[in-house]
Amino acid sequence: MAVTSRSWQAGVQLQQRNSLRFPCLARWHAQAQDAAAVSAALVEAKRRGVEVWVLGEGSNVVLPEELDGLVLGPADRRIEVLDDDGERLRVRAGAGVHWDALVRWSAGQGLWGVENLALIPGSVGAAPVQNIGAYGQELATSCRRVEAVARATASPVQLEAEDCGFGYRDSRFRRDPHAWVVTAVELELKRRGCAQISYPGVVDALATERGVNDASQATPLDMVEAITALRRRKLPDPEVLPNAGSFFKNPVVTRAQFDALETRHGDMPGTFVDEGVKLSAAWLIERCGWRGLRRGAVGVADAHALVLVHHGGGVGAELLDLARDIAASVRERFGVRLEQEPVALQRARGAGLPADS
Ligand SMILES: Cc1cc2nc3c(=O)[nH]c(=O)nc-3n(C[C@H](O)[C@H](O)[C@H](O)COP(=O)(O)OP(=O)(O)OC[C@H]3O[C@@H](n4cnc5c(N)ncnc54)[C@H](O)[C@@H]3O)c2cc1C
Repeated sequence: MAVTSRSWQAGVQLQQRNSLRFPCLARWHAQAQDAAAVSAALVEAKRRGVEVWVLGEGSNVVLPEELDGLVLGPADRRIEVLDDDGERLRVRAGAGVHWDALVRWSAGQGLWGVENLALIPGSVGAAPVQNIGAYGQELATSCRRVEAVARATASPVQLEAEDCGFGYRDSRFRRDPHAWVVTAVELELKRRGCAQISYPGVVDALATERGVNDASQATPLDMVEAITALRRRKLPDPEVLPNAGSFFKNPVVTRAQFDALETRHGDMPGTFVDEGVKLSAAWLIERCGWRGLRRGAVGVADAHALVLVHHGGGVGAELLDLARDIAASVRERFGVRLEQEPVALQRARGAGLPADS
């Protein structure tokens, strides 16, 4: 079904459609059921000189008070098995599928590949944008192909996984946010696999949540339930305390930088990775005294220094100011640059407004 300007809704409030619950009035909002509908919406927006933003479930964005253009929500909610050779399945999920529903569907079929990514909020369409990851797994491990619509031409394209530029909470879609609208993701899932239990707490959670004392016997569903329970314990629920998950990426420094930092701060945690040493952003922020701090309507969670929260009655700009101050204090004290994880959608600049509004 095509998205024509007749199916655009005018003046839509997005406060309940972002996990930080910041108010944001979209001039227009439309849902696109498939790639053809995304193309049609892009063509129509171009014809009318309207700027377009893509919004999934709003769990990794900081919204401004107003978006003077079209907010487009890809809404293909199909999960299809494209191929099954008895060992491996190729599964296609539409951009509008809720990510955790796909994880549970997969685990329910006894398939391995995305079980450790349970309970990550958001849509399938956003998953490749920051190559979602948790508990030692990331999307890139099982993603084979991404279907998208190129915004410049409004035509459908397919990107093989190796062309997506996946990195740590990063991809080409994130680096070039105006290039594509993701319409579906193709995964390769396996009938045989073994539980990834390297993260602290996973083994205990398997035992307490599922009665599994030998991890080699765990099923994908056991892993999903164990990870779900762990995450519920650790992270504030956005329904109770609005947040966007981790607000900063864990910074990676060179080995020499880490050695120098460790000399001054002996207890600084660091994990050796291919690119250098990954630091804990939460530790850095906590050491700068931000944990639990409240500034007006926004603040830093008591339970987790990496989670910035909205206590109600505030706007996105207040949280971005706080985030800037946190990053500046970490840079001043440790000489380490923090990179923001949620995307701050920008207000339209100079985009023509629709004449027949
Ligand atoms: C409590 C909590 C815990 C979290 N834990 C994790 C975690 O463990 N690991 C992790 O990686 N992330 C985590 N996140 C972040 C978030 O869940 C992911 O980034 C998720 O993929 C966002 O999905 P969304 O549909 O809500 O995207 P949105 O917030 O709607 O959009 C995020 C960005 O992607 C773009 N986008 C969305 N859909 C599309 C599309 N179809 N095509 C092109 N661009 C698109 C948007 O324009 C925006 O720039 C957490 C968030 C919360 C609130």
